[in-house]
Amino acid sequence: MKKKLIAGNWKMNGNAASNQALLQALLAQSADWQCRVAVCAPMVYLDQVKGLIQGTAIELGAQDVSAHAAGAYTGETAADMLKDLGVRLAIVGHSERRQYHAETDAVVALKAQRALAAGITPIVCVGETLAEREAGITEEVVKRQLAAVIHANGHCISEIVVAYEPVWAIGTGKTATPEMAQQVHAILRAQLHAATEHAARVHILYGGSMNAANAAELLAQPDIDGGLVGGAALKAADFLTIIAAAR
Ligand code: PEP
Repeated sequence: MKKKLIAGNWKMNGNAASNQALLQALLAQSADWQCRVAVCAPMVYLDQVKGLIQGTAIELGAQDVSAHAAGAYTGETAADMLKDLGVRLAIVGHSERRQYHAETDAVVALKAQRALAAGITPIVCVGETLAEREAGITEEVVKRQLAAVIHANGHCISEIVVAYEPVWAIGTGKTATPEMAQQVHAILRAQLHAATEHAARVHILYGGSMNAANAAELLAQPDIDGGLVGGAALKAADFLTIIAAAR
């Protein structure tokens, strides 16, 4: 059975001192971990984090990657640059990027493609807004978002990680119930099965106010292979409790 994956999304938080303190606190407990653990740090701290986690159980992740390979794209970071830095995973299509940076399904698919081509695992985020859930179109929305990535990445699709993140649950303290999350994860798994014979090995993470109190129940669901954790990943004790629940 594949190990679960717990990935922290630090978003635009922290500084050099707090990064160091957080990682030290996490690494002090790493001998007990039964799952994979990653931290997706802000771009400017990737090099610092790389130095602090080198040779440890923590994998280095980025929060985004450019849809372009190289060139005149001021402020962007190419997949090859992230690879150079030792980045193993990169979040693509986070709802905050879809919402505040107008990223479309096509752009997200291209970003996933760039990451894969560079040997970086894209963590492809999908998820419905509250209005979409209330309109009864959750399945349609998440399938459309994942279909774009499947279509652009063909036979490489088994190399991605998917994160189901209901937008209404991100940073709000509202969590999908384990049953609600499992239902959507099963839909995504079936979609992956139709695209690849290796769908079973794709990690499908749940994200959206996962915390120390609700992680065990969520992670016990058959198609929940880990978590993408925002706020709770910034508190060592909470993140460690989530990691301990992932077995
Ligand atoms: C996220 O931003 O990916 C996330 C899941 O955030 P939070 O855990 O804070 O809801």
